[in-house]
Amino acid sequence: MEQRRPTRQISVGNERTGVIRIGGGLGGTTPAQVSVQTMTAGYTHTIDKCVAEIHKLQSAGADIVRVAVPERKDTKALGEILKQTSVPIVADVHFHYKRALESVEGGVHKIRLNPGNIDDRAQVNAVIDACKDAGIPIRVGVNEGSIIERKDKQARAKELGAVFSDNKNGYMLAIMIAKLEEYMDIFEARDFHDVCISAKSMDAALVIDAYTEISKRFDYPLHLGVTHAGPKETGCIRSVVALGTLLANGIGDTIRISYASDPVFEVEDGLEILWSLGARERVGAELIACPTCGRIQVDLFSLVQDVRTKLADEIRVPMKVAVMGCVVNGPGEAEGADIAVFAGDRKGIIYVQGERVANVPESEILDRLLEECRAFEARVTSGEAKLGQKRVDIVPPDPEGELGSGWEKMAAERHAPTPITINKT
Ligand code: SF4
Repeated sequence: MEQRRPTRQISVGNERTGVIRIGGGLGGTTPAQVSVQTMTAGYTHTIDKCVAEIHKLQSAGADIVRVAVPERKDTKALGEILKQTSVPIVADVHFHYKRALESVEGGVHKIRLNPGNIDDRAQVNAVIDACKDAGIPIRVGVNEGSIIERKDKQARAKELGAVFSDNKNGYMLAIMIAKLEEYMDIFEARDFHDVCISAKSMDAALVIDAYTEISKRFDYPLHLGVTHAGPKETGCIRSVVALGTLLANGIGDTIRISYASDPVFEVEDGLEILWSLGARERVGAELIACPTCGRIQVDLFSLVQDVRTKLADEIRVPMKVAVMGCVVNGPGEAEGADIAVFAGDRKGIIYVQGERVANVPESEILDRLLEECRAFEARVTSGEAKLGQKRVDIVPPDPEGELGSGWEKMAAERHAPTPITINKT
């Protein structure tokens, strides 16, 4: 993991919702943890449903929730929605700058503007002034789909593509950067810096290139995302590739995953990316499970799904729980787990921090495992036990033995490739 790129910092929310800081490291600010955002899928003007959806997303772990405000009836609903919710709310504005002004008046905590469809300087200035007066930030969100220039496309493509001629996404990358440079000039001229930037595409490689380029040009915090990524099943891969790569390179201060699925999945997967990278402290159990093989003797796939669902519902402590198909390789593969079950011969042997506590028939594995997880959580919470304190008792290969030469090579950093000789006859 690269060091996080220092940025300016913006704040979203207030005393009532809690303040979520985005970015940091410049101007005496401390970098905030990477936050997770999502967006409601329903209409904003159906107030009760919108509020219920926001509550659901907040419970799933969303730090910030965005709502669409395409019509006046949506911005009119904001006041009531804000009264009934306790998470920072962002108004997503496209085409009509007045929706942004109405949203600010309605009390939202941040505005998102799209340079692709609100680019009249006077209108942008009006929104900037309103946000400045209200003390709220603006996300400048460039989207590939909304900035494609249709006039004289061939000539523009040639001209712009030349700027990033060695990049496979040269033309599109150039349009995104040019649009952003032009738009940010308006903000700079107004001396408004309470800004974060996004530049999304459905193409993971373009997303990586765009944010990498933007991170060299601007010191504003970055909101990462792959837009129109598709349903969770496929969108997940694209999002993890793009966001994981950028975050591992130290780029990105807040993330939003976009699925054509329930937005709860966006929050869950966003958090999982950050937990997996160690960018945020995990909440809840971490499940380790074997992929199964010809040694399996129980219905492990069903067991893993049941354990996963129950752990997500019940456990808040970040314990590691391993579900392994056999006792042959299971203990090695589950090393480091706090709670583990090794199945075999239609039975499950359950361990708690390395200590064998039960041997139960397959039908009782789930209940007994959960019982042990709950009891362990209680012990961790009361201070009687510590996470990761014991290890599953396995004997590692002897480093001094026949295969021990690896240690010497590793210590000497000897990993130069052997030259290849090609025999020409
Ligand atoms: S734990 Fe056992 S069943 Fe599972 S993949 Fe490893 S060897 Fe196969």
